[in-house]
Amino acid sequence: MGQITLENVAKSFGEVEVIPPLDLTIEDGEFVVFVGPSGCGKSTLLRLIAGLEDVTGGKIVIDGSDATQASPAKRGLAMVFQSYALYPHMSVRKNIAFPMKMAGIDDAEQKRRIDSAAKALNLTDYLDRRPGQLSGGQRQRVAIGRAIVREPSAFLFDEPLSNLDAALRVGMRLEISELHNRLKTTMIYVTHDQVEAMTMADKIVVLQAGRIEQVGSPLELYRNPRNVFVAGFIGSPR
Ligand code: ADP
Ligand code: MG
Repeated sequence: MGQITLENVAKSFGEVEVIPPLDLTIEDGEFVVFVGPSGCGKSTLLRLIAGLEDVTGGKIVIDGSDATQASPAKRGLAMVFQSYALYPHMSVRKNIAFPMKMAGIDDAEQKRRIDSAAKALNLTDYLDRRPGQLSGGQRQRVAIGRAIVREPSAFLFDEPLSNLDAALRVGMRLEISELHNRLKTTMIYVTHDQVEAMTMADKIVVLQAGRIEQVGSPLELYRNPRNVFVAGFIGSPR
């Protein structure tokens, strides 16, 4: 579970081609980072995978099935939004339960999953608080908890830490990496931050103007950048 293949996937908004046709394979259990400057198409690519945008060409295959036309809910993926997407009037417990309620999961199973996610994310003592009574890091953990309880075959993160301060960002990076080590679930993580890419990724996808400039491990990109753009972006001594 959690293998995602893009075949000739392309996206235009009106006349503007934001993603020219591209191919990419993400293996089960991989931590893949999409990195590139602002406006290069990272969010668009993630939203195509999530099904929040329709492709204008190509095919998306998830775990061997053609998912190109599948609704977001049918894809079995969970998008982690920035923490400000929490419901401010609901308790942490209710925020985490919300997607399960929508999916019609029974109360006992909801409770089991909430307890397990809260334990994994150190939120057990905070379940009855509202988001406004939590720190930025705790709020971000709740946003991750809301994804975990759906038991997705892959997590999709779009710059989840960009509204946290620098010190907290370092801690949350470690927490997300640790979560990946524990769950071994595919994660796709979008960032414009080279340090995040280099420290978190199994595989980095460097994007520029909707094109894949290079795909490789952090060490491969560092040692052997394909061009000056990749070298400059990764900060390697080419
Ligand atoms: P990134 O996440 O890398 O900053 P985006 O994927 O958000 O980049 O955007 C890539 C390009 O697509 C940008 O030029 C942006 O203006 C354009 N774009 C994104 N969404 C839309 C949309 N809904 N309509 C028109 N253009 C869009
Ligand atoms: Mg973006």
